[in-house]
Amino acid sequence: MIGLSLPERLHVVGIAAHPDDLEIGCGGTLLQLAARPGTTASFLTLTGTPAREAEARAAAAAFWPGASSAFAGLPDGRLPEHWGAVKAALHEHAARTPAPDVVLAPRPDDAHQDHRLLGELAPTVWRDAVVLHYEIPKWDGDLGRPDTYVPLPAQAARRKVELLDAAYPSQKAHDWWDAETFLGLLRLRGVECRARYAEAFVVRKAVLDLGLDPAHHLAPDPGTGVGPDRDPAGGA
Ligand SMILES: [Zn+2]
Repeated sequence: MIGLSLPERLHVVGIAAHPDDLEIGCGGTLLQLAARPGTTASFLTLTGTPAREAEARAAAAAFWPGASSAFAGLPDGRLPEHWGAVKAALHEHAARTPAPDVVLAPRPDDAHQDHRLLGELAPTVWRDAVVLHYEIPKWDGDLGRPDTYVPLPAQAARRKVELLDAAYPSQKAHDWWDAETFLGLLRLRGVECRARYAEAFVVRKAVLDLGLDPAHHLAPDPGTGVGPDRDPAGGA
């Protein structure tokens, strides 16, 4: 299978309903992206007590030194009830951070209502980025069939697990929180893309760049004289 590459300089936006979602879903990918020269990141977490926000800040600093972290302080487990505030927080984050090339967001079919809402709203806020919907293993048993993989070296997979433990001590008492859960899913996703370990995503929409001159597809149609509309739906 061939790999599709991302451009050299990237800004990445990571959004999470709860502290730890982003790092559980795609901490290995964060570690790999952070190692790329010229790649920057800004994270937004919609819920969290002050103690959990502090954990999320520590996690961001560990997984991606230099990334910015913002918090919306909305109530955990109740995001659908606060639809307008969630949408506003996402637009405010978009307004104060660089336009991203990549957005990391939960899956729009995630069984947790808070995750699901963010997965649905992310593409309505960032229409010019590729949205990678990450997966979160949990009691609900909602893992699906991803379509996009980021292979991870063993070192990054193990580092992800170490950093999760170090950054989120409040979560370690959960019966599901252990290295077997995290490495097991990474290993299974690795099997699916012929790597030792991988993180998997759902991508609902992407444009394939064939490497042609951009003027080639932006030029008006010689038959009609009409050019492409950059944003026909308005992006609200
Ligand atoms: Zn969560």
